[in-house]
Amino acid sequence: CSTSSLGAVAAEAELMATQILQKLKAPLILEGRSHQLTACIGITLFHWPGTLSGDELLRQADIALKMAKRSNTNAISFFDSQMESLVKKRLEISQALNHAVENEELALALQPQVDQNQRIIGFEALLRWQHPKFKSLSPNDFIPIAEANDSIIALGDWVLEKSCQKLVKLAAQHSSRNVKISVNVSAVQFRRGDFVARVKNILQSTGANPQNLCLELTESLIADDINFIIEQMASLRELGVSISLDDFGTGYASLAYLTRLPLDELKIDRAFVRDLDGSSKGALLTETIISLGRSMNLTVIAEGVETEQQFKRLQKMGCQHFQGYLFGKPAIG
Ligand code: C2E
Ligand code: CA
Ligand code: CA
Repeated sequence: CSTSSLGAVAAEAELMATQILQKLKAPLILEGRSHQLTACIGITLFHWPGTLSGDELLRQADIALKMAKRSNTNAISFFDSQMESLVKKRLEISQALNHAVENEELALALQPQVDQNQRIIGFEALLRWQHPKFKSLSPNDFIPIAEANDSIIALGDWVLEKSCQKLVKLAAQHSSRNVKISVNVSAVQFRRGDFVARVKNILQSTGANPQNLCLELTESLIADDINFIIEQMASLRELGVSISLDDFGTGYASLAYLTRLPLDELKIDRAFVRDLDGSSKGALLTETIISLGRSMNLTVIAEGVETEQQFKRLQKMGCQHFQGYLFGKPAIG
């Protein structure tokens, strides 16, 4: 198409794609049960006559399709060159992550967790990736890529092993014998049938006391086969390890499921702590979550505590443990 009509062509392509999606949305009845399909469409536009080959155009449409799949909101996506560089960068990160462990690019940052008297009762282990090119990437950016290419398994094992080694060092000092380390576990690690065995092996090889190891799982796990999840959690607790539900309140955990999970701790998401400074509605929600946790006999910990005021309000609401910049930032070493 000519440049002037590009907009009109794009609109036409979008309309066509929307109509296809609408048709696909119609429920299908299979063996008496209703099923609904979801679909994504990637589109690329080109000038005719042009220089791009059919293969190249298909590749561009495929990139647009990948972006549509990754987006939670757009089932239709158009290719653009910025998209291409994003995809290239992601691929580069993905490949580099496969070598992060062997290239010794990982580091563990520990952030203190305190009790109501501000005494340190534990640390959260937070992964840092010191890659020459991607140094500034936050785990929020690289963990999803590691999950997508399965390198999270090697990364997760590395974090667990280093955390357990650190526990052994802490246990050697009388004053920090009972200090815990909480390790984040990705749903991709947890869903694999061998996760419990991996934890057991690492505990045995390092000699760490399982009582001092806490595993942080997120609510998104609960969207899976609940019986399998409960079984895995129970086996982990049999090892002596405790389990925390991270980012609580942001996910999909239904209360009915929550009561069935063998948990030790609820970790209130930072968003609720931030809300304490705003509306009274926000505070009410935070208070409700704290009483819910306590009524289930769980330890309640709040994360992202940055101010004295937040700390005091959380204490009044019955929160027992706290983590946040007020008490210390994550630090390597
Ligand atoms: P998360 O598990 O919710 O970890 C807490 C995040 O909040 C950390 O970010 C921490 O640095 C940050 N934080 C702590 N206190 C405060 C505060 O007072 N204010 C503010 N604004 N932020 C605070 P970080 O280290 O960038 O990690 C981000 C996320 O990446 C983590 O969120 C976790 O989901 C994931 N992650 C980090 N390490 C690992 C890991 O070893 N394995 C897995 N699977 N995920 C990890
Ligand atoms: Ca966490
Ligand atoms: Ca969290």
